[in-house]
Amino acid sequence: MGEKKRNDKEEVLQNYQDYVIGSYTRSGIVFIKGQGSYLWDIDGKRYLDFFPGWGVSGLGHCHPSIVKAIKEQAEKLIHIANNHYHPWQGLLAKKLSERSFGGKVFFCNSGAEANEGAIKLVRLYGRDKGRYKIISMDNSFHGRTLATVTMTGQPKYSKPFEPLPAGFSSVPFNDFEALESAVDKETAGIIIEPIQGEGGINVAEKTYLERVRRLCDEKDMLLIFDEVQTGFGRTGRFFGYQNFDITPDIMTLAKTLGGGFPVGAMIAKTGVADLMVPGTHASTFGGGPLASVSCLAVIDTIEKDKLLDNVKAAGEHLYQKLVQLKERYAFITKIKGLGLMLAMEMDGAGDWLVNACAENGLLINCTHGNVIRVMPAINITEKEIDEGTEILDGCLRNKK
Ligand SMILES: *Cc1c(COP(=O)(O)O)cnc(C)c1O
Repeated sequence: MGEKKRNDKEEVLQNYQDYVIGSYTRSGIVFIKGQGSYLWDIDGKRYLDFFPGWGVSGLGHCHPSIVKAIKEQAEKLIHIANNHYHPWQGLLAKKLSERSFGGKVFFCNSGAEANEGAIKLVRLYGRDKGRYKIISMDNSFHGRTLATVTMTGQPKYSKPFEPLPAGFSSVPFNDFEALESAVDKETAGIIIEPIQGEGGINVAEKTYLERVRRLCDEKDMLLIFDEVQTGFGRTGRFFGYQNFDITPDIMTLAKTLGGGFPVGAMIAKTGVADLMVPGTHASTFGGGPLASVSCLAVIDTIEKDKLLDNVKAAGEHLYQKLVQLKERYAFITKIKGLGLMLAMEMDGAGDWLVNACAENGLLINCTHGNVIRVMPAINITEKEIDEGTEILDGCLRNKK
């Protein structure tokens, strides 16, 4: 059996090597099964997942309510084009609207696509006034399409693709003066992640966001929150912006939204949303029946299982565990984040720790070179957190 497994694994790796475009760095692990916060690889080894699909599998792997919703829906109706109606898209939009700041929703299939929608909506809004520019934050991340990678405030991602679309610039995060002086009469919008994810788990300051909101009101600019990573319970509120006393005009969602099913959404305040009329924007797969019922199952589960309370309690527990590790190891310089979007900053590269943890059955992430990021499923238990942080401790102790 061992021999066969090895051959199976070699074949999987070989197929990727020969036929899949090599745009990713991959771990070398072949996963074949997931349940809750655990994953199993092709050799039968079990892993505790503290970074489930970059936050996509936010309710853990194969959550029964999502599996049930997809199975039942697949037997009724899988796809229907957006020039017709089906019952589940409108219901989902209603639930998203009611749980956020009102407004209307456009459905698509990914975070980048949701942000593309936001860019187009901002341009429609500014059109009559000759305004089209969007200011983003340094170290932000908004996706990999040409426009969103340009809007991403990390030139290393966009440089190889020059010439880039016009109208994008970035300024230091949490620096109001820098933002204010970058605004000119062609600026139509400002986009912010309330907590920067890929940029290293940097939390926005409350007073900063309040001043940005006021500036947008004064200058008639739209405020966009990219909540692709912070949305859907991650921070202990349904949406990240709810931790601050302001609302954006546009919010983009993906990742946990579908609980594993590919889906993205852009929510916009009604007056703004209505600028999108037939012919201005579309997405063939957007808001299809399967995607919609997945999202509905995620919302129901968050509410029935009181998962926002779990994020607050489990997040506090994990935070304290990380603080203890920081006290034990001098090379950990900072613990940061909110809810279950947490990170340990190291005084050097963090890749070795990701690899050591994987070897010992724990999946974590390193972003920005030296920031160890953990974003476990929002239904993670304290026992699982203890198990994971013990593995972390063991790996940190053996640092070479
Ligand atoms: C992941 C991410 C995106 C891009 O989402 P895709 O689904 O990969 O296109 C955009 N913004 C933020 C904040 C993200 O974390």
